[in-house]
Amino acid sequence: MAAGLSYYKISMPLLTPFTTSFGTQTERIGYIFRLASGSVTAYSECVTGEEPHYSYEDNETAMHVIRNFFSPMIADLPQPRVFMERASVIKGHNMAKAALEMLLWDYHSRAEGIPLARRLGDSKGHADVGISIGMDSVQDMVRRIGSAVEKGYRRIKVKVEKGKEFGILSAVRDSFPDIKLSADANTDYTLKDAELLKRLDRFNLVYMEQPLGHDDLLDHSRLARQMATPICLDESITDSAKAEQAFDMGACSVINIKPGRVGGLTESLKVASVCAERGGHCWVGGMLETGVGRAFNISLASQGNVDYPGDTSPNDRYFSRDIVDNPFHMVDGRIRPNDGPGTGIVVNGAYLSSVSLEQGSLLKP
Ligand SMILES: [Mg+2]
Repeated sequence: MAAGLSYYKISMPLLTPFTTSFGTQTERIGYIFRLASGSVTAYSECVTGEEPHYSYEDNETAMHVIRNFFSPMIADLPQPRVFMERASVIKGHNMAKAALEMLLWDYHSRAEGIPLARRLGDSKGHADVGISIGMDSVQDMVRRIGSAVEKGYRRIKVKVEKGKEFGILSAVRDSFPDIKLSADANTDYTLKDAELLKRLDRFNLVYMEQPLGHDDLLDHSRLARQMATPICLDESITDSAKAEQAFDMGACSVINIKPGRVGGLTESLKVASVCAERGGHCWVGGMLETGVGRAFNISLASQGNVDYPGDTSPNDRYFSRDIVDNPFHMVDGRIRPNDGPGTGIVVNGAYLSSVSLEQGSLLKP
């Protein structure tokens, strides 16, 4: 059956500006994809943004490779694994690949009438939810953490950068001595900062996330040998082979899995297996996704191998109104994946169009 593939370039304001060591984001500008064939309609989201800060990919590079290379590969509606074999001729561009790979997961799960969380494998039936707090004045961060703890989030992560880490972590630990706390530096340090980073051991963090270079493993392994705090890698782990190398080298004991970064759910499941086999831990991160991308993250985070709470907050943490009509709700720090086929989300087509800067067709049915 012929497939129609459309895209929507959306712009949605964030409720709270989100500041990391890369800068401040006030809106989510990204691409939503819609695949329709027969009576089945599937959606996915590309996690790229306007600027290549997190990795080399951005909205324009993603649309370039999707339009010219990846779209024709899904015209016959292949299974996700078959698409990944075809797409392997293109080096990198994992976020672009993931956007179409996840679209196919949603499509086939919907066509078979199976919830995505179950089609992926061994779902616990819920995702344990943590929260990522962007940098702000220390008082405001402490206030926001207090409100997150009250709401029942199971792990608090604070964004830090070089020079601000002590102020932030001291104030948070003074107010919340016992919470599960981690810090994410988004690559802001080098190995020359090892002495400074070792002093963070006193804060008893569950882990320190990606302190060093975005594609580094070796220096992280050197740092891990000096720090008592476990190292979690995010940016550096671009596929399951990298995850194996990281464990071989002792570069990390925890991995933040983002399906976009590793090229989709097929590879995310492999990374989770590597973590389990090596006695490590993993959790599912976020890229400020709308309700579309969020639904994939929650299905993945519900898998048995994902053993730490992730950055999969409910939709209303980021947007006053989402493009899905059935946003997730957190109860006791947990979110249940939808029961319906695929991701189970119901996209509001009129609202999606109203927040779209641009829309068009990549494959005609
Ligand atoms: Mg991170």
